[in-house]
Amino acid sequence: MDCVLLINSIKKRCNMRNKNDNASGSELHIFQDKSLDFCAIISLKKYERGPALGGCRFLSYPSLEAAIKDAERLAHAMSYKAAMSDLPHDGGKAVIIRSQRSIDHTSILKRFAECVGSLKGRYITTIDSGTTQADMSIIKNHTSYVTGILEEDDPSVSTALGVFTGIQAAVKLLNGRDNLAGLHVAIQGAGSVGYLLADSLHQAGARLTVCDIDPVRAERCKNEFNATIVDPAAIYAVPCDIFAPCALGQIINPLTLMQFNTKIIAGAANDQLATCELAYELAKRGILYVPDYLINAGGLIQLALQRQNKNRTVITERVVQIGERILHLAAAAKQQQMTLFAMTEKMAERALANCS
Ligand code: NAD
Repeated sequence: MDCVLLINSIKKRCNMRNKNDNASGSELHIFQDKSLDFCAIISLKKYERGPALGGCRFLSYPSLEAAIKDAERLAHAMSYKAAMSDLPHDGGKAVIIRSQRSIDHTSILKRFAECVGSLKGRYITTIDSGTTQADMSIIKNHTSYVTGILEEDDPSVSTALGVFTGIQAAVKLLNGRDNLAGLHVAIQGAGSVGYLLADSLHQAGARLTVCDIDPVRAERCKNEFNATIVDPAAIYAVPCDIFAPCALGQIINPLTLMQFNTKIIAGAANDQLATCELAYELAKRGILYVPDYLINAGGLIQLALQRQNKNRTVITERVVQIGERILHLAAAAKQQQMTLFAMTEKMAERALANCS
């Protein structure tokens, strides 16, 4: 590998999601191997809680800066996620920039494993958008700092369960209901998490509208859950009780803000807010926003507890606590006349301040 670089000038040009990036040691590692057209970024937010645990994305990006920004924002969110779920991990995220050239996939993963290994356990990788459990098995051949390899390790199951309990909590908060029967949920993205969430919501009696840029995935929800399918561009304006983003980041932005026709936004997607200020705009419009890193922590909880050799029952118990945590934070927020988002940020920052 020809270089391991810390490019602070680039880092400075990438806007962070949150000004309160109080990590005691923020590390940005950029690995390049021109012979393979390989470029990977690993962002770590160190609070001395434990090794950073976070997925590896393998996606195309318009620029190196865009990839760095993605890794930085996601690593930041992972530190908040671990803190709010009381897990002994720092925040970390990796990005491999997908090349336009056709490069041997196994060689790319081997290079990435070497990058992870060079951090000597400060970062543990796992699956994320664009990587699979099969990829993690290949990485495992070259470094031990990887998790989520076996089929039963798929974190999507716990993520979907956590989001489902989070939606139940949000509904309880808003109208005191203990069930979801007859409520209308619009789901953006019917991939690993979106599909499982649709299944649970359908079983709970909810009515579904689904979109996906992959028509096969959308069609599966139509066939199995009687979901109405809409064009991806139309999903934001669907009149519904709950909007569940399960695809992309930054889908709450100035363009979508005025389109939402929902009472609750609660979904699995990471990094949903383009800027933190939008959480307040949602509140002004009477929309309850459940912070992404609070509701989508199920997968991280699962992977962290599996590393502690906890069994499935213990893991499930911890994942369903997401709903209770939302109710607890909402009660505290109400008492202090804050939004759920503001209270969650405050508690996450407090938890992290106690570590660093
Ligand atoms: P996935 O790749 O399996 O599914 C995402 C789906 O969204 C795909 O079917 C894709 O075709 C679709 N999609 C992409 N762009 C879209 C668009 N513009 N409109 C509609 N659909 C679109 O990913 P996943 O594992 O289901 O994760 C979904 C989201 O949840 C991601 O943001 C991910 O970072 C986040 N998340 C996932 C987990 C997990 O355990 N898998 C944990 C925490 C957070």
